[in-house]
Amino acid sequence: MGGAGHHEWDGQQQRRARGATRGAGPGRRGAHPDTVTRMTSDVSGWAEVGDGVFVRRYEPVDVSVGAIVGPTGVTIVDTRNSPEEGDEILRDVVAEFRRPVVAAINTHAHYDHTFGNERFAAHGVGIYGHVLVPRHFEQHEAPRLAAVQADPTREPDKNWAGVHLTPPTVLVDAPLTIDPGERMIELLPIDPGHTDTDLAVHVPDAGVWFLGDVIEESGAPMFGSGSFPLGWPAALRSVLGRIGDGDVIVPGHGAVVDRAFGERQADRLEQVASFVRRAHDSGATVAGAELPAELLGLWPDASLRSALRAGYAALSAEG
Ligand SMILES: [Zn+2]
Repeated sequence: MGGAGHHEWDGQQQRRARGATRGAGPGRRGAHPDTVTRMTSDVSGWAEVGDGVFVRRYEPVDVSVGAIVGPTGVTIVDTRNSPEEGDEILRDVVAEFRRPVVAAINTHAHYDHTFGNERFAAHGVGIYGHVLVPRHFEQHEAPRLAAVQADPTREPDKNWAGVHLTPPTVLVDAPLTIDPGERMIELLPIDPGHTDTDLAVHVPDAGVWFLGDVIEESGAPMFGSGSFPLGWPAALRSVLGRIGDGDVIVPGHGAVVDRAFGERQADRLEQVASFVRRAHDSGATVAGAELPAELLGLWPDASLRSALRAGYAALSAEG
């Protein structure tokens, strides 16, 4: 799983099922973190990626959870797939850092980053998220959750029964600086890309950025479930413009990366956006469009069809 030291996701997408099968298959990525754990010798699973900023990669779906440790408390970035998994974060953080959890942040609305919210809210922990998360829940996560709750045999390896959608308690619609646990954190809404709920989390004194799935390292960035493939490259480049050469970027899934990695990913996303525009201009249907071999080397067929579907919807809305 994931040869140590890989810094590109080329050819890595087979490591998990995404696109149409998102959440349905085993979807496991590398169970053993590579680059991140090599940055420290901590055997607890938490890797320090910047001064007092830690990341732990949790299964299932190898989701990166951040812990921003301040003098009087810890802020968590992303809450995993279920209330039980959210509880596990709370236990792990208190055991490791011996400080209370004082805030949580959602990098975007997708289930693997928000379905643990319920437990944080139950403990009275404020949850920050993009202002459009509630709308995304309504349009995407709620119907999907209802379908799997109605028929658990669709995803027998998961326990969706106990999930109650819990939106952030503080909705962010403009850049916002907060200091939970007496540690300064900047929240920056990102233009629509992976979703229209993407929120960058910046810890200025540590030079660390959490970008959610706007960047992925362990697999190809995912199209579908509310993505904006045409705007994504520019949205990513815009946030990269604020990131320094020496800063650390924590992707939603995979090992930490740098700005140069992000720029290469923006180039790949641009190739997809151009393909979608060309296919639309040629009159090809979503099902009938011929997928370029160079893109099929990077993304599964289903993911590229999702990009076509979302891109076509945006182009026809433009008229
Ligand atoms: Zn994700």
